[in-house]
Amino acid sequence: MEQLLFWKMAFAGGVFVSLFIAERLVRAAPAPQSRERLFRNFGLWLIVVAASPLIVAPITAFGGNHLVWARGPELSIGLVGVAVLVIDLIILDLWTYWLHRAYHRIPIMWRLHEVHHRDEFLDTSSAVRFHLGEVILSAILRLIPITLLAAPLMNVVIFEAILLASALFHHSNVRLPSGFERVLSFFIVTPSIHWVHHHAVRADTDSNYASFLSVWDRVFASRSATQRTPDMKIGAEGVEDLPLFGLLLAPIMRKRL
Ligand SMILES: [Zn+2]
Repeated sequence: MEQLLFWKMAFAGGVFVSLFIAERLVRAAPAPQSRERLFRNFGLWLIVVAASPLIVAPITAFGGNHLVWARGPELSIGLVGVAVLVIDLIILDLWTYWLHRAYHRIPIMWRLHEVHHRDEFLDTSSAVRFHLGEVILSAILRLIPITLLAAPLMNVVIFEAILLASALFHHSNVRLPSGFERVLSFFIVTPSIHWVHHHAVRADTDSNYASFLSVWDRVFASRSATQRTPDMKIGAEGVEDLPLFGLLLAPIMRKRL
């Protein structure tokens, strides 16, 4: 299992470094010169990284030890194993779509998720900007599909790697050839889709929820008609970004910061 986690981190690290460099070479939108923003985003990420072995990993391991039923070994071999893996990935992606929608629709969940949306620009650093509370809550709620599916830990880790790579990609500020991005966006979530989700207009923020496969927003009628533009205002409507300490406190403050 350590080996699997190593490959997940190596894969995600490779995607991160490639996109981090690419978005500085071919920008889709003019980038602000704020180091403060990167400090906030990576600060939130480092807190999650530090807490993961202590909190998030044990939650996932708990799920692995409390499966509702047990899969037979024949379900993980050869072509059947590949087909089952693909089904697991699709169901976990569908779960992630509805969980994301819940983060926007349920006020107490929005308080946590708003920390991610307060970012006033988007690039690869935005993909790792999440409040620790949201990461813990998502890990707990994800026990529902994992235990119901009796999904092997390997399939869950593969999904996590795909989700992280996808998040790095669709938050990035990399300019892609428009024809290529249009074709790609039919299958997976591209920056042109996800940047609209971060448009500082609530109607657009409450749309384009998909994380990996873009089909879910079409199936569940949550795709915005707004087109991404380089000067689109990014952020959460009606509130500003905060220093790192303020972002950590914002979800539990009675008065909105
Ligand atoms: Zn969101």
